[in-house]
Amino acid sequence: MKYENSRKFFEQAMNIIPGGVNSPVRACKSVGSDHPLFINNADGCMIFDADGNSFIDYVGSWGPMILGHRHPKVTEALSFALAQGASFGAPTSAEIRLAQAVTEAVPSIEMVRMVNSGTEATMSAIRLARGFTGRDTIIKFDGCYHGHADTLLVEAGSGVATLGIPGSPGVPKSFVEHTLSLPYNDADCVREVMEKQGDKIACIIVEPVAGNMGLVPPAHGFLEILREVTEKSGSLLIFDEVMCGFRVAYGGAQELYGISPDITCLGKIIGGGLPVGAYGGKREFMEYIAPQGPVYQAGTLSGNPLAMSAGITTLEQLKKPGFYESLEEKSARLSEGLKKAAEKAEIKASFNRVGSMMGLFFTDKDVKNFADAKTSDLDLFSAYYKGMLQKGIYLAPSQFEAGFVSAAHTDEHIDTTIKAAEEVFAMLAR
Ligand code: PMP
Repeated sequence: MKYENSRKFFEQAMNIIPGGVNSPVRACKSVGSDHPLFINNADGCMIFDADGNSFIDYVGSWGPMILGHRHPKVTEALSFALAQGASFGAPTSAEIRLAQAVTEAVPSIEMVRMVNSGTEATMSAIRLARGFTGRDTIIKFDGCYHGHADTLLVEAGSGVATLGIPGSPGVPKSFVEHTLSLPYNDADCVREVMEKQGDKIACIIVEPVAGNMGLVPPAHGFLEILREVTEKSGSLLIFDEVMCGFRVAYGGAQELYGISPDITCLGKIIGGGLPVGAYGGKREFMEYIAPQGPVYQAGTLSGNPLAMSAGITTLEQLKKPGFYESLEEKSARLSEGLKKAAEKAEIKASFNRVGSMMGLFFTDKDVKNFADAKTSDLDLFSAYYKGMLQKGIYLAPSQFEAGFVSAAHTDEHIDTTIKAAEEVFAMLAR
């Protein structure tokens, strides 16, 4: 494959955009690529770069594209909305419709506020939890990523893990001294900390299915313990479902595991590919937000009509009978196929999957937390990434990201992917 145009664009971009990209992991630095692919267009599960190369896409814009790219209903809804005007900075009925769809899907959400990104959703949810409880300290988990707000950039996953940044310059120590980061899936540790300091904890925020250290499912009983200890201490339990919301089930991880958090953060899928985030929860908490309550949060483009229409239409499609069953079948086919391919080539690999979110780690350990994820052989991952790309398979360029299957992937696409992996694993084994 030739990448001349991508290379040329990257050179131009490097001059005027920091690192040549508008979000760090896109630069593909950690896998040793000297440039990312510049994308021209995408359709269904296929993505096409600036040199005319085509790839089967398992990034799906990092999660939102659960229907695949350019779903005709979403495109139609967007064209209709655009014809009415791009933004008004005033309420529209579309905001009510998306809020209704979200509250119907996720019963723990009685009221919801739209924002523009996952980062805004988690940042605002934390402010609400602190404002409501009058407490400052928050608990998060190592390897979970909740966006780039100051207080949450502690032991964070995703790009922070990929680039090996311990925290970030520019975040004053005093901003993070109220953030405790504990090992994911370690219920004893959470109990111990909550027994000692529970009355000082505003909230526990967690990715109920962790997708930013690769994919790590919650251990049996872990989420239950979080619910129990927060209830006991009067702290709020925040599920960051920006990635897993509407992904692992229509009602998200909370439906799948039967746990009702106090506040839920959403993003990605609910915007159908447009910039959206949301946070919602029980009425008593949400009524604490301005203008109804004292906790301030605002946004010029929040509830943007284009984003609302893409979100509403996406959720309509997800609601159709059999949608998640079919996605589960495809995802199981892919995961099983990759597992067998790795076994055949005698590659040490560990696989995790929840629905259409999956992770493959080059380690013989069962990956249950960030420390386990970090035992993965990153050089082997880079070689796997590059080998797959060369065979027309577009994966996230980092060990510490999840892969996503969409409704647009067919068995044929999946079998092509497995065959590519067989060849790449065989090459790696040599
Ligand atoms: N929370 C989670 C769980 C995420 O996966 C992400 C982004 N990958 C965020 C928050 C931040 O969302 P955004 O990039 O839209 O700010």
